[in-house]
Amino acid sequence: MKTAVVRVIQQTLINEGFKPGTVDGRLGDNSYRAINEALTKRKEGLPGDWAAWSNPRKSIAYLQLLCKERSIDSGDIDGFWGPQTDYAADTLTQLLATGEMPKPWRDETPLSVNPNNWPLQNEAELNTYYGAVGTNQVSLALPYPHRVAWDLKTTINSYQCNAKVHDSAKRVLKRVFDHYGMERIKELCLDRWGGCLNVRKMRGGTQWSMHSWGIAIDYDPEDNQLKWGRDKAVFARTDYDAWWRFWEEEGWTSLGRSKNYDWMHVQATKL
Ligand SMILES: [Zn+2]
Repeated sequence: MKTAVVRVIQQTLINEGFKPGTVDGRLGDNSYRAINEALTKRKEGLPGDWAAWSNPRKSIAYLQLLCKERSIDSGDIDGFWGPQTDYAADTLTQLLATGEMPKPWRDETPLSVNPNNWPLQNEAELNTYYGAVGTNQVSLALPYPHRVAWDLKTTINSYQCNAKVHDSAKRVLKRVFDHYGMERIKELCLDRWGGCLNVRKMRGGTQWSMHSWGIAIDYDPEDNQLKWGRDKAVFARTDYDAWWRFWEEEGWTSLGRSKNYDWMHVQATKL
């Protein structure tokens, strides 16, 4: 069992008034005794032979009951660790850590519209449409002030981007400002700017980054790190649905929403 899950079990036992010892992520005699007491209290929800189960099996059954009590489907209360229990354990861990159930992500469908006719992510097409890397840049006057993510004391009111994406990006940011307002923008870190134009190769790749043409923008890189998926990246949360809708309605692509990495990033290409 994962350490994080054991900690959840131990903390819940303490919250219920049992004495599993310290929350150390390891199951020992004290934890097992407490689990036995907690299961005894819930014996109507258990199969008849539960008392004869091994301690590790009882621990899993206790976890399954904790899930069930919060309407998280962990399958049968059988004390076996299958994929359904594994998924339920992750959901419970997130619920107890954040106070929120994870957002259903199977339903997430990035919009596939392309009103600005952005080209495909292909070097030849990008050079034809946007010009050579690093060229054709203009200043985008921002509808709301941004702060530089790696130097939050520095506020900016404009940044450089490709001339072809200027109007679209400005429309999106105007809608973001109208929808969220400055206070909420700050709470959600939608003013933490992680860069746009940057002539460089992709991190972990050999081709030009979309930033080389000034057609990709990063926001709040610290809370949406390159390899983080929707379980960790803050921009995967429901609060950001409108943010993504505004970009996607202009045809921009979120790598987070389409590939589940690099949630900080949005780009004016189709994949
Ligand atoms: Zn990026």
